[in-house]
Amino acid sequence: MPGIEPPRRIGVPTAAVRRMPSVDELVEGIYGGDRSLLSRAITLVESNAPTHRPLAREVLHRLGARPGFARRVGISGVPGAGKSTFIEAMGNYLCDAGHKVAVLAVDPSSSLTHGSILGDKTRMETLSRRQECFIRPSPSSGALGGVARKTRETIAVCEAAGFDTILIETVGVGQSEIAVRAMVDCFLLVLIAGAGDELQGMKKGIFEIADVLLVNKADGENFIRAEATRQEFERVMHYLSPATEGWTPPVRTVSSMTRAGIPEAWDAVEKYFAHVQSDGMFDARRREQAISWWHSLVEQELRARFLADSRVAALSGRLEADILSGRMAPSLAAEELLDGSGL
Ligand code: GDP
Repeated sequence: MPGIEPPRRIGVPTAAVRRMPSVDELVEGIYGGDRSLLSRAITLVESNAPTHRPLAREVLHRLGARPGFARRVGISGVPGAGKSTFIEAMGNYLCDAGHKVAVLAVDPSSSLTHGSILGDKTRMETLSRRQECFIRPSPSSGALGGVARKTRETIAVCEAAGFDTILIETVGVGQSEIAVRAMVDCFLLVLIAGAGDELQGMKKGIFEIADVLLVNKADGENFIRAEATRQEFERVMHYLSPATEGWTPPVRTVSSMTRAGIPEAWDAVEKYFAHVQSDGMFDARRREQAISWWHSLVEQELRARFLADSRVAALSGRLEADILSGRMAPSLAAEELLDGSGL
């Protein structure tokens, strides 16, 4: 298998550009636990460069022959709720218990905010130094669809590399948690005391996709307030339709700072997995996720190919002018575009 040539950069001598490893080297490196090759494989699958896509596909195809297995856990909450501090605490706890943990992020805003999650290297400092853990910041290209695709492919690479627990962080303010819910087995919500009145600044729907709720910062003077918030959410959860049949999401208090309640929080996650695995719900959800992901990839690709077609571009301009001038109804113009493009 030939090496993958990186794009030439003007003014940079070829020898100074690091050679991209071959597909064989990447696949063997991933199976062999080589962190640097794992990172480079993820960079390849995240790449938007047209020359990289066939190679990325080949890597993913080869890894698919020996897929790994991991529990995929989504973690959401408003900025400041303590998600990264929680992941640092939980990640260390899991590594101490013998797990291999990969931490990924889905943050469609990161290209605008220069990486609002996992971008700051000082976060998760102890976890990032551990051999059993691999932390990958959010892919930096904008649209949620693109970020979601990359994260799914990164999950596949991390699973093949032998990570048994994948924690996927997202900010709980927009659409990204719906995208994350569709790629994980269990969804955790990190809350904070006292903010219950405004439903924590989150859309109410987010509580209906959560499997476990954690009231963070239950320490010091805040402990009592955190416990009151826990009870309040416990009541609320009884009125909502659960994300997972037969499972009322438990609400626990934790302190990610003192690490009190971390084992109990993981215990709640374990119980959740026992529940969904006992009656086939786990496998059914994974199958459902795979099929709906396949549909959304086909839709994305159809749309991209349609919009890239020169006939569509030519017709679009004329039809748009007709809509704006009132000569044509949008519904008719949509039909014209689809019929007239000849695709
Ligand atoms: P994120 O934006 O949700 O990732 O939140 P961070 O993990 O960055 O935490 C936001 C702030 O809350 C930081 O100043 C943390 O030190 C603090 N914090 C996080 N967890 C706890 C906790 O359990 N107790 C206390 N007292 N502070 C915490």
